[in-house]
Amino acid sequence: MSVHRKSKFEINLMKQAGNVVALVHAAMKDAIKPGVTTKELDDLAYKIIKANKSDPTFLGYHGFPASICASVNEQVVHGIPSNDVILKEGDIISVDVGATFKGFVGDSAWTYAVGEISEEKQMLLKATEESLFAGLEHMKSNDRLENVSGAIEDVAKKYKLGIVRQYGGHGVGRNMHEDPFVFNYRTNNSLILQRGMTIAIEPMLNLGCDEVDVLDDEWTVVTRDGKASGHFEHTVHVTDDGPEILTKLL
Ligand code: MG
Ligand code: MG
Repeated sequence: MSVHRKSKFEINLMKQAGNVVALVHAAMKDAIKPGVTTKELDDLAYKIIKANKSDPTFLGYHGFPASICASVNEQVVHGIPSNDVILKEGDIISVDVGATFKGFVGDSAWTYAVGEISEEKQMLLKATEESLFAGLEHMKSNDRLENVSGAIEDVAKKYKLGIVRQYGGHGVGRNMHEDPFVFNYRTNNSLILQRGMTIAIEPMLNLGCDEVDVLDDEWTVVTRDGKASGHFEHTVHVTDDGPEILTKLL
């Protein structure tokens, strides 16, 4: 496994890509409400990415037909935006966004509430976000990747949530998916984190079981028991002083 460490120049470009992703998320936060379709959200994301001299990383990636993944309730990841998916009060929606600026990728996901949501779903969102930030704390030089994974698992267990096992975080840079793969539970991965590594950390936690299936559209991943799933992701730069989040507003 080779993990490419980025130069200051490359990190700067990644921050700009990350800023575009953060602009999209800021717009999603305002746009998501009952009655809105996931296709409308996708159109909005496309416009913002293009207006910022960037390209939607997901569009055409292995044939994916949209700029965002929009995954509602029991959908975990890779939901395809559609005119037929109309958000309603009480839903949750995970929006995953990628933007490529001058050849570098920013990748970030967030799960949003549509209007008022149940206490159970509120807990799911709070816990999944907490697990992301618990993992991020270990994104510093000389810490180990397995500690990122372990911290995420510990938060999931604290809240008795399922952990999606087939998908996880990943190195990111000139490509959306680079080494290393990041499990969201403990494994024997002794990779020592070093300054300049850029990795997307992305726990996917479920109100029910760990298991997931892929729908007939060959993209949409859903929980096997039909219970809701949350997904929070940031692209992060490992530094000597700790994590530097690249997918935030500059
Ligand atoms: Mg993503
Ligand atoms: Mg990712």
